[in-house]
Amino acid sequence: MSGARPPILRVEDVSKSFPASRDLLGRVTARLQAVVGASFEVAAGETLGLVGESGSGKSTLGRLVMRLIDADRGRIILDGADITDADRHELRAARRKMQIVFQDPQSSLDPNWIVGDIIAEPLRANGVVKSERHEIVARLLEEVGLEPAHRSRYAYEFSELVVCDEPVSALDVSTQAQVLTLLEQLRDRLGLAYLFIAHDLAVVHHISHRIAVMYLGQIVEIGPADEVYHRPRHPYTEALLSAIPNADPAARRNRIILRGEMPSPVDPPPGCRFQTRCAYAMDVCRTDEPALSSQDGIDVACHLHDQGPTLSGATVVDLAPPISTDLDR
Ligand code: SF4
Repeated sequence: MSGARPPILRVEDVSKSFPASRDLLGRVTARLQAVVGASFEVAAGETLGLVGESGSGKSTLGRLVMRLIDADRGRIILDGADITDADRHELRAARRKMQIVFQDPQSSLDPNWIVGDIIAEPLRANGVVKSERHEIVARLLEEVGLEPAHRSRYAYEFSELVVCDEPVSALDVSTQAQVLTLLEQLRDRLGLAYLFIAHDLAVVHHISHRIAVMYLGQIVEIGPADEVYHRPRHPYTEALLSAIPNADPAARRNRIILRGEMPSPVDPPPGCRFQTRCAYAMDVCRTDEPALSSQDGIDVACHLHDQGPTLSGATVVDLAPPISTDLDR
């Protein structure tokens, strides 16, 4: 999937659901299917972008990779070691190879900052006094399986995989560009691998070697960034891309307005999960779930591609508000 470079991360058929409702006795009566059968690899020095709307499961997938939550099914392989069922001791070693970056990138990403300062900065910004900060940092390090001495190390000293969860979404455009450049420099200099989770397809395209598109818990398209961005195979990817403004008239796409809202992940539609909003939906889409299948190095889950490509650039007009590229998580 990711060329000749050995994968730092391999995710195999990973699923995760959460209790959505319980009866009076506390028994689970419905589950929210957050991630369903996700598989992908990320190689050293590579960035895999993960995009999708609010509720697509992309942030849950990031947390599964970091083992911040446990998968119901599937395997997570980090640098050749299966960490799916790793105990506390094994996770301690694994977490030296991983780092997660949330929405405050200036404190998370500065290569001149040591780990203790990175953790302490949001506390300082919120007025926590120095002695208390010291204690909290020690406790947090302990909780994520690190030694007290690690507070003086630079983050990149024990990171091979960095999960970036919406790292630039809270920033203005010019700061976004600076942070993306810094991320790229760190990746290239240190051979890091990034799982870059974001809602902004243009940002993801800028930094990623490959892009995976998620819809309602499933990866529906994954392939080289330029291919996915310029020649989308899946109708959902096509719709996301059609909403991005383009100053070049030759490169403009027909605007596709998706029908309705994303269905609930508690009760997803039968067949293809995208069938309730898809401009191309056929009878088979309402009964048979399309499998992710490979086509010219791109994996697509869509019945349109069972016989071969293609998307015609459909325009669907509906009363529902248009999908935006500035999507929530
Ligand atoms: Fe649309 Fe059918 Fe493809 Fe699903 S399988 S994306 S409903 S054409």
